[in-house]
Amino acid sequence: MPLPELLHVDVAIVGTGQAAPSLAVALAGDGESVALIEGHQVGGTCVNNGCTPTKTLRKSARVAHMAGRAAEFGVQVGPVRVDFAAAMERMQTRVDSARSGLEDWLAAQPRLTLIRGWGRFEGGDAARGFRLQAGDRRIMAQRVYLNTGTRPVVPSIAGLDTVPFLDNVSLLQLRSLPRHLVILGGSYIGLEMGQIFRRLGSEVSIVETGPRITGREDADVSDAVHALLLEEGIAVHCGHPVDAVAPLANGAGVRVSVGGRQVDGSHLLVATGRQPNTERLDLGTVGVTVDGRGYVPTDGELRTNVTGIWALGDINKRGAFTHTSYHDHEIVLANHRLQRQGAGGKRRSADDRTMAYAMFTDPPLGRVGIGEGEARAMVAQGRRISMATHAMADVSRAKEESETTGLIKLLVDDATGRFLGAAIFGIQGDEIIQVISNFMATGASHQVLKDALPVHPTVAEFLPTVLGKLKPLAA
Ligand SMILES: Cc1cc2nc3c(=O)[nH]c(=O)nc-3n(C[C@H](O)[C@H](O)[C@H](O)COP(=O)(O)OP(=O)(O)OC[C@H]3O[C@@H](n4cnc5c(N)ncnc54)[C@H](O)[C@@H]3O)c2cc1C
Repeated sequence: MPLPELLHVDVAIVGTGQAAPSLAVALAGDGESVALIEGHQVGGTCVNNGCTPTKTLRKSARVAHMAGRAAEFGVQVGPVRVDFAAAMERMQTRVDSARSGLEDWLAAQPRLTLIRGWGRFEGGDAARGFRLQAGDRRIMAQRVYLNTGTRPVVPSIAGLDTVPFLDNVSLLQLRSLPRHLVILGGSYIGLEMGQIFRRLGSEVSIVETGPRITGREDADVSDAVHALLLEEGIAVHCGHPVDAVAPLANGAGVRVSVGGRQVDGSHLLVATGRQPNTERLDLGTVGVTVDGRGYVPTDGELRTNVTGIWALGDINKRGAFTHTSYHDHEIVLANHRLQRQGAGGKRRSADDRTMAYAMFTDPPLGRVGIGEGEARAMVAQGRRISMATHAMADVSRAKEESETTGLIKLLVDDATGRFLGAAIFGIQGDEIIQVISNFMATGASHQVLKDALPVHPTVAEFLPTVLGKLKPLAA
């Protein structure tokens, strides 16, 4: 068979993750020819089986939860019944609309070619151009941006291969409510899904092999999240490795053996981590190095070890979020434009950003910067840091809303007055955390926030009050 004609472009972007579409459109708008390569669904994890569907479904779960609490607010609604299939359909409609909106946007761009197929390198370098292959197309590109994302890890657990199990993709394809969902993994995805399915009517058991759920968060934050899950009727098993997984004798479910205990359920969700989609890329043919887990190391400007190839999004391990991936595109775009214009000015770097994120339980956990554990370690090294905590139960707006779960924790550097980190677990914690992350981005002292005029009645108006409680932190 004759080889397909070579498509010459300035730029190839592999994967339509959360950096790629905006980068592709911007570069094409600047006059460059762009090949955007996608092996599966345009929009990647976030749009198709990550943020968009889970946050849409979370709303159905919240409505069900609040409907169940309606009488507390003086509203009689009668018995609450969840139509699971309808909730899933609402979620799917939102996903389809987000993906098709993205596809239409890309299709409308001159100089941008969307190629369907799994992209891989065939060789080349920055001087001669990089050769790639995707589907039935061959591409020659002067620069290449990789944005291929991650997929679920399948842990090595005895018997896991003998039972059907779900991941974040197949869970969202269910149209009948699981009677009892057992979840392996007590981190963000497991906890968000666990609470959503519990509120939609499933029994839920979460199995976390570490000593506590959300193991990366401070113990008091983790304990508060744990208490919330228990209050909602979710069983949480922590601190023991999973010995084995097996089908139930009646064939109607799974049994997870953990710490001498048996956790039986109708469905099993594995949410124990993610791994990078880099093997298919044949990175070795162009000399791009990966670490032991397949992630692609980059410098702050997201350049790989090979000139002319950048790695954006989850695969560079500089964040595992849509906002970090999107931010990556802004960094490479700004630096490329500076270079093209031969202009001076400060180049942007991912090293300069303050990591902020949220876990979208209800209420959510908003996080930025360091936590208390890291702060105490810094104090042990001689740094002077102050900390304040405040219970959401003592925030008027939370009381007015009857949503008093959680806490606010702020960490401040004594020498500069700057924020070093914050955790806001509670009503609107995902939004309010951005007050602190924006302060951290500007480098302004916490005193500015203390003296500023807040709006009443909001949760954020309490931040100055919390700052008034700052006390030096001991090692
Ligand atoms: C259940 C769940 C919920 C989440 N919720 C949130 C949230 O609320 N907020 C948040 O910030 N983050 C959330 N995330 C994380 C977020 O989805 C990712 O961090 C985000 O999508 C960034 O990924 P990315 O840009 O690296 O690539 P991805 O979005 O993973 O996309 C990569 C794309 O590349 C394609 N691809 C892979 N290899 C190739 C190849 N060789 N050739 C062509 N195409 C290829 C894939 O098919 C995919 O379309 C969630 C994740 C999950 C799983």
